[in-house]
Amino acid sequence: MRKCPICTIELVEIDFHGQMVDRCNTCQGIYFDRGELESIVHLVELFGQVDLQEQEIDTILEKEKNKQLCCPVDGEVMKKREVVGEVIDICPQCQGIWLDNGEVLALKSAEKHIKQNLNLYIRLGS
Ligand SMILES: [Zn+2]
Ligand SMILES: [Zn+2]
Repeated sequence: MRKCPICTIELVEIDFHGQMVDRCNTCQGIYFDRGELESIVHLVELFGQVDLQEQEIDTILEKEKNKQLCCPVDGEVMKKREVVGEVIDICPQCQGIWLDNGEVLALKSAEKHIKQNLNLYIRLGS
């Protein structure tokens, strides 16, 4: 059984925007297998130079950013990676991604922003 790397309780499988992911009902963190989220992360990184509306994004507590987390699947220590100002945890073994609640909101907000401004981004990216 997969367990939350923060609360160590069992993760529950949920439908997250059409994709099955594992979520912790206590801290609302979400574990993504390698897949759809990675494409969002890449998209966000690609256009990371564009200012996002930071006031819409929940601030993550500093102590949470420094926490060492272990992958729910294989127990590997996850690596911190910064994406448009948000620190997310990626497993070097299986490439799974752990997001706490604030990080999920931040990435979804970035994704929405990118989709709304796609024409602008296409020009910037060329
Ligand atoms: Zn949890
Ligand atoms: Zn892993």
